[in-house]
Amino acid sequence: MLPGPTNVPERVMRAMYVPMINHRSDDFVELYEDCVEKTKKVFMTNGEAVCLSASGTGAVEASVVNLIKKGDKVIIPVNGEFSSRLSQMLEWAGATTIKLETPPGENASFEAVKEAFDNNKDVKAFYCVWNETSTGTMINYLDRVKDLTSRNDSYYVVDGVSIVGGEELKVDKWGIDIATTGAQKAFAAPPGISPIVVNERTKKYMIENPPNTMYFNLPRYFKYYEESKHTPFTPALPLLYAYREAMNMILEEGLDNRIRRHRICSGALYSGLSTIGLTPFAKEDSRSTVVIALNYLEGLEDKTFRNTLAQKFRVLVAGGFGNLKGKVFRSCYENNFFYCFYTRYDGLQSRCKSWSQHCRREIKRTLIPVNLYKEIQKRCTLTFGNGTLILIDYTAKVKNTDEVFDTTIEAAAKKHSLHDPNIKYQPKLISIGEKWVIKGLDDALVNTSVGDKKTIEVTPDKGFGERDSGKVRMIPLRKLGEDAEKVSIGDTIEVDNKKGVIRFIGSGRVQIDYNHRFAGKTIVYDVNVLKELKSDEEKTTEILRKDIPVDNDKISFKKNGNVLDISIPQEIFRIDGLQIIKHLAQVDIFKFVPTLEKINFIETHVNKATKPQQKKSEDTKTKSQDIKKTAKTK
Ligand code: PLP
Repeated sequence: MLPGPTNVPERVMRAMYVPMINHRSDDFVELYEDCVEKTKKVFMTNGEAVCLSASGTGAVEASVVNLIKKGDKVIIPVNGEFSSRLSQMLEWAGATTIKLETPPGENASFEAVKEAFDNNKDVKAFYCVWNETSTGTMINYLDRVKDLTSRNDSYYVVDGVSIVGGEELKVDKWGIDIATTGAQKAFAAPPGISPIVVNERTKKYMIENPPNTMYFNLPRYFKYYEESKHTPFTPALPLLYAYREAMNMILEEGLDNRIRRHRICSGALYSGLSTIGLTPFAKEDSRSTVVIALNYLEGLEDKTFRNTLAQKFRVLVAGGFGNLKGKVFRSCYENNFFYCFYTRYDGLQSRCKSWSQHCRREIKRTLIPVNLYKEIQKRCTLTFGNGTLILIDYTAKVKNTDEVFDTTIEAAAKKHSLHDPNIKYQPKLISIGEKWVIKGLDDALVNTSVGDKKTIEVTPDKGFGERDSGKVRMIPLRKLGEDAEKVSIGDTIEVDNKKGVIRFIGSGRVQIDYNHRFAGKTIVYDVNVLKELKSDEEKTTEILRKDIPVDNDKISFKKNGNVLDISIPQEIFRIDGLQIIKHLAQVDIFKFVPTLEKINFIETHVNKATKPQQKKSEDTKTKSQDIKKTAKTK
């Protein structure tokens, strides 16, 4: 729950697991162009975007060194650690800063900014930290600043490091010239990529007045991109893959939905925590919707609180820094949502008799609204991301006829006369978004959550396809050879390696329908979402249960560090396709448990010449082991 780097979805982590590419290759061009275009969408700009291989400070510094020259006048609100750093950077670049200082938890008002513009007609730029992460305050008049900067065409620059992607930002519409963020915050990507967007007029200014710097020299980035879609220096390639996937997730969720989610959740957390006495730290008109600061409960000491939280609840939060060191702890919940608590503990330790007891009690109280938040988040977000492994039970039928044709439940198979003793009736393993089931079902599962029982209708376009009259053919009966005498209407037959159903026989000809049996039909799935698989062990178990055609209690594996040993059950030593089974299993396991380095398939052959007595005791041992394993599984 650290307030950045925020939790990174597995799907984003997995995107990095690719071979290294040449950063002067077509592969890179495809990757980087995608990152740039998607960044522009998230920032809502048609200007330039550069995805710097740097932390957020790098992008903020680039906004300074490429624009500010010695003697430039800059207006900047200062109310915490990050705005102080930014004003320091501006001064180091030679600017004269007009600081609009307010106490932590408060923002300079729009009127104060306007007054500063009124009094400084020669101002070169307005810089601001949109979301002051150290105190949980957010400037909420970004859309109005253009009225001031447009008076003398001064530049408008936004450090959006902890908020872009979680709150509304319309760079072009709001007349923002430069905006930045860091991927490890509300984008929920790993740290190391920090985008900066720059509009046309600012780009022109930078090119005409290039900075005396190499790595953050933006004109150089523009030139390389224009000429070859490359970056001037070696970029953090794996991080760009992760970054792109994070962008995909943001755009799939939709910016509006994502912003709404953050607003709902922060609202719930503010009000939920207020009811138990944790009042918001920021003044009402300055409160952030992505970083929440609360007045700490009286008597709760920062270090004890965080230690207890870590040891008893296995929850990590970060301490404060800058002026708030020891007074603030900052925390993030799930990906891209953070909140922090402002501690007011001076001198209170001595008044509390049992610190650990006190802390535990207070933590419990604190966590109640956290659970409330979790619940709200569950309700207003897409519940499963692509690549999430889930288990479902389902029964499928044709909508118009109610003909049940597929099920994962043995009792249902028997009831509808579908039962096949060779089939393993068990919950179906699905990797969301990867078409392990037909598209319509796959798409609908994204919006479910564990425990849901849903009826999902799948129309032909997302199911077995529309009927195609071109797939119904007449062929001479004699082409069926010996079968010509035996077939009748409704039979399924294979001709030219294709299976079809006989629709008509007569005049020495036979009409065969090669359409899928359910083409043109709407299918109804009754689905029960049973479980989301999270641990490596759960994932491995279910992949093996899916792939290995024996009773589940005969499947066993053991993980030693990064090596997985899978025992092949004796009864399938000689079956056809064992190699394929092993191949599919290892592909899936490596995919979903990427930390594994090796998989061994072990076939243990028992000496048949062993004395009967000995064999008997072996058998007994195996049996008792099996029983133990079954009991464990249950
Ligand atoms: N600006 C703001 C508003 C931030 O919140 C942060 C980091 O939390 C930074 C700048 C610096 O980012 P980084 O630590 O990635 O360099």
